[in-house]
Amino acid sequence: MPVAVFTHPDCLRHDPGPDHPETPARLRVVLDRLRADPDAVVTNAAPADVSELVAVHPERYLRLLEEMSARGGGTLFLDTVLNGASWSAALGAAGAVLAGVDHAHARRGHAFAAVRPPGHHALAASGMGFCLLANAVIAARHAQRLGRVRVLIVDWDVHHGNGTQALVESDATIRYVSLHQWPWYPGTGAAEERGVGNVFNVPRGPGKPPSLYVDDLWAAIVAATAGWPPDLLLVSAGFDAMAGDPLGGFTLEPSHYADLTRRLREHLPDTPIVGLMEGGYIPERLAAGILAHLRELN
Ligand SMILES: [Zn+2]
Repeated sequence: MPVAVFTHPDCLRHDPGPDHPETPARLRVVLDRLRADPDAVVTNAAPADVSELVAVHPERYLRLLEEMSARGGGTLFLDTVLNGASWSAALGAAGAVLAGVDHAHARRGHAFAAVRPPGHHALAASGMGFCLLANAVIAARHAQRLGRVRVLIVDWDVHHGNGTQALVESDATIRYVSLHQWPWYPGTGAAEERGVGNVFNVPRGPGKPPSLYVDDLWAAIVAATAGWPPDLLLVSAGFDAMAGDPLGGFTLEPSHYADLTRRLREHLPDTPIVGLMEGGYIPERLAAGILAHLRELN
């Protein structure tokens, strides 16, 4: 059965400017590949309702994003830049992620959200690292309202998801496992950062054999799920840990994401899985990584 992929057309309209690595072409290439692939069925989701976002972000921050977009955009923080479509794109991205959770919750199969802007660097009241809204945490809170109390977030983007960690590190109902390059942007993600025992960071140096990254992430996933079967698995699926990515120095190939996805399914056979797109800055490589992940979700 093909995997349900959710997106929103406005995700293609958010544009942080020329020469910015987080370009609309990333998602355009991904969607072109997925729409031509028999293993995926791409559906446009409704934008998220602001009521879903206030579980994670203060209203004043949401208003700031909306107003800055309405004025045509501007620099939110360093390289995190909005244009006139950024607020609609952020709502569309969150909506697609929520649609994925609804799909998986209803046992219609695993799902993937092909979206941008990404989310795992976004803090409660500030965007950073190309991220505006904390999509994974918004999804986790939505799942918990649906009765899926224990939510596991596995983040294999090459950067540490400082925003996700900050938003869940005092809440034992969510566990966060992150493999990331270290030391590297954004500077957080030491192994000693354990939250309330619910944070499992796997910081590693660049240029190691891919099996080291896969096996060390896998050991952390096994530790995080020991005696703690999650009711939902969210994969913060960045693909910038692939060899050659301009924003990272890891060495993974699409086959490694397939391997990790297969292992997750075998290890957690009763847990619905929702992948959501984070980083990955060579569009063709990003699409190949997503397809490898999807083929093991169907
Ligand atoms: Zn990244």
